[in-house]
Amino acid sequence: MTLSAPPSRRPRVVIIGCGFGGLEAARALRSAPVDITLVDRTNHHLFQPLLYQVATAGLSAPAIAAPIRHLFRRQPNATTLLGEVTHIDVAARTVHLQDGPHLPYDHLIVAAGATHSYFGRDDWAPHAPGLKTLDDAFEIRRRILLAFEAAEKESDPARRADWLNFVVVGGGPTGVEMAGTLAEIARHTLPGEFRHIDPAAARIILLEGGARVLQAMPEALSERAREQLEKLGVEVRLNARVTAIDGDGLFVESPSSAIPSSASSYQIKSKCMVWAAGVAASALGRQLGAATGCTTDRAGRVLVAPDLTLPGHAEISVIGDLAAAHSHAPGQAPTPVPGVSPAAKQMGRAAAANILRRLAGQPTEPFRYRDYGNLATIGRNSAVVDLTSPAGPVRFSGYFAWLFWLFAHVYFLIGFRNRLVVLMDWAWAYWSFARYARVVTGIVEPGGRAAQPGAPHGGPFKAQARD
Ligand SMILES: Cc1cc2nc3c(=O)[nH]c(=O)nc-3n(C[C@H](O)[C@H](O)[C@H](O)COP(=O)(O)OP(=O)(O)OC[C@H]3O[C@@H](n4cnc5c(N)ncnc54)[C@H](O)[C@@H]3O)c2cc1C
Repeated sequence: MTLSAPPSRRPRVVIIGCGFGGLEAARALRSAPVDITLVDRTNHHLFQPLLYQVATAGLSAPAIAAPIRHLFRRQPNATTLLGEVTHIDVAARTVHLQDGPHLPYDHLIVAAGATHSYFGRDDWAPHAPGLKTLDDAFEIRRRILLAFEAAEKESDPARRADWLNFVVVGGGPTGVEMAGTLAEIARHTLPGEFRHIDPAAARIILLEGGARVLQAMPEALSERAREQLEKLGVEVRLNARVTAIDGDGLFVESPSSAIPSSASSYQIKSKCMVWAAGVAASALGRQLGAATGCTTDRAGRVLVAPDLTLPGHAEISVIGDLAAAHSHAPGQAPTPVPGVSPAAKQMGRAAAANILRRLAGQPTEPFRYRDYGNLATIGRNSAVVDLTSPAGPVRFSGYFAWLFWLFAHVYFLIGFRNRLVVLMDWAWAYWSFARYARVVTGIVEPGGRAAQPGAPHGGPFKAQARD
């Protein structure tokens, strides 16, 4: 079934994905004489930079997610549809949904983002979930909270220690944030609440395959971040390559002499592991590549023309994490655009502006990325900031960097209510050390039976963490 054309003969713009790129593109077309259809497989726009806060029980889901339908209620030229895009028919210019109509388009913006990559070892995924969606965050939060509960009931000291080993794989911003916050929970939030275990005795291990954490940052800030993590009680292991993951823990290869045994390969037993190591573009990228002959890179991102369109298909723009795009500043060599939210937003605006130029019969313009810098938080009172300014880089770390990070993230949250909720929750958590988004629902089933699907190593509980 093809969705019938609206009575108007206005150009039809279909946008796939309402993340940072898609949202910004649709908003930039709010006054344009076009009919927009915005499709997403979730009903919400998600502020991914704060997802780790949901995974670590600091914020509830509605604080960082906004219903897409509500966001576009005052934009009459935009229709929102909930559905999974399975296929783009480039020849027929239609977008196919899994369980819905075919959407005809005159202009298509593909902003379907990225997902985790386990570097060909997808069998590791159930043991060490990644963090990309709200469901991922709920699952990670469930595992963290229930690991402490299981340890409290475990009488065997070795098995209790396994429950209290938390491992984060990947020392990028997400891995650093997860590890730092886990350490805070263990050292500051939970002590006093248990009778048989000391939560502060939990080990938080951060494994990074490279020589430093936060590799997109300058070396000195990476070093500050490592120091701040260690101050919080995180064991940071660099040059540590994961070679296997199963229900009992993971195997690591490391040339470092700082590991507990002198062997180059060793096992870390753990029941709670988080994967923050790899990113792969949405499958729609490779599908577009196959359909149009355009090139995709190793991560499945689509190599786009300077104006963000597909070579040979001026009617299709690919933006955000799905695009392997370059920034074209006048008089300079093109530079790769990083996979971060400001880049996705800028690409969304640029793709929308180029559609308007084409409609006006004007030539399109190449994309130019304006890089304002990089931030990462490590935990309470600690962050690193690397800002770009005309006078040169501005770099700082520690308390003021953390305040800067905090206000920047609150500022960029969608919706006034979300900003208020997050500020209030953080202010309270700052003074009390409490984390209240800790409700786990479901039946507690003792006896080590398999938990819900997705928890293959089995736990003593059958439960879900939900908001
Ligand atoms: C945990 C985490 C932390 C991060 N922290 C930071 C940070 O601190 N700073 C920063 O700048 N960046 C951060 N990023 C990166 C940033 O979130 C991304 O660069 C940005 O979201 C990319 O925007 P996008 O529009 O390309 O994709 P996304 O925002 O991922 O949006 C893609 C949208 O497409 C939808 N979709 C996907 N496939 C389909 C389909 N087949 N059919 C229908 N809909 C589909 C998805 O549901 C989603 O809504 C973080 C990312 C993660 C995962």
